[in-house]
Amino acid sequence: MNLLRDADIDPAPLAGKRVAILGYGNQGRAQALNLHDSGIDVVVGLRGGSGSANEAEAVGLTTALLEPAVASADVVMVLAPDEIHAALYREIEPHVRNGAALGFSHGLSVRFGFVEPRADLDVFMVAPKGPGTALRSLFTEGKGMIAVWAVAQDATGGARDLALAYGRAIGCGRAGLIASSFAEEAEADLFNEQAVVWGAVPELLIAGFETLVAGGVSPELAYLECVGELKLIADLIEARGIAGMREVISNTAELGALLGGRRIIDEGVRQRMAQVLEEVRAGKFAAELRQEESGGYPRLEKARLKNRETLLEETYRRLSDAEG
Ligand code: NAP
Ligand code: MG
Repeated sequence: MNLLRDADIDPAPLAGKRVAILGYGNQGRAQALNLHDSGIDVVVGLRGGSGSANEAEAVGLTTALLEPAVASADVVMVLAPDEIHAALYREIEPHVRNGAALGFSHGLSVRFGFVEPRADLDVFMVAPKGPGTALRSLFTEGKGMIAVWAVAQDATGGARDLALAYGRAIGCGRAGLIASSFAEEAEADLFNEQAVVWGAVPELLIAGFETLVAGGVSPELAYLECVGELKLIADLIEARGIAGMREVISNTAELGALLGGRRIIDEGVRQRMAQVLEEVRAGKFAAELRQEESGGYPRLEKARLKNRETLLEETYRRLSDAEG
């Protein structure tokens, strides 16, 4: 595996350069602050009337409107939501300096053609594998978050070294930078979101909860069993791996898991997972995402309202009130 750490990475390619961070959301805030603390000249680029300007300035960052921020920068890091990258790039492209670098933290918008970068630009990705809040808190604790990096376009011959220096400056070289490509990162990320951790796991918990309740178990107990124990297994897997997790649970749980797990996650599940991967690669989800944005997020808005109204959520609220 190609994994690089601080000691393998030369920070020089970023020294003396100015980085414009476009967007001050989850990643924008964390990356801007980490770069700033690493001694990099950072400007946060925001749209007119952005509520984030005061917040960024209050913690000592420099802010500017998108156009001047981009025009002043050697590296332009696009950290706004993926589905608006097409419009955002159209707006900033005339102002990006010749031979500058364009950076991303997700391969999606380049992989699926939302953004077609100008030929004179270096195009790189440093994608931290976790939320911005953790990227920042790990950094302040002297630690780092693992990240995936890639180069999509090397116009100057320096894109690789710049990408690595960027990853180092946001603290990811403390944990490790893994080489990938925009396509591999984007496809694997979308696959996982849909078919594994973010899509399938919550639905598995909901299905388990509803099955127990339908079988006469109280909602409180069903919740504690099916949802409440997720953190226990996540912590064990993080600390010991999946095999190590299985070694520390009771024989009862271990035998149950052995007999039951494959009955639920059967060949049909694997076939549908393969289908999800195929559709992701064909750009089906990317098209859905753009359609959702252009329609004002109708499916997301509807689902967000409905999500709160279930017995499971009511039970969650009751139990968390009881805790607090
Ligand atoms: P986010 O929090 O949703 O970004 C919000 C920021 O984007 C705000 O500052 C907002 O401006 C700005 N923005 C929104 N629409 C804009 C527009 N039309 N023009 C200019 N600025 C606009 O985004 P994020 O979750 O950090 O994601 C940023 C990138 O990082 C994405 O490529 C994502 O895939 C990647 N990533 C995210 C995470 C994560 O932790 N969420 C993890 C790994 C990778 P205002 O302040 O004006 O509202
Ligand atoms: Mg993702």
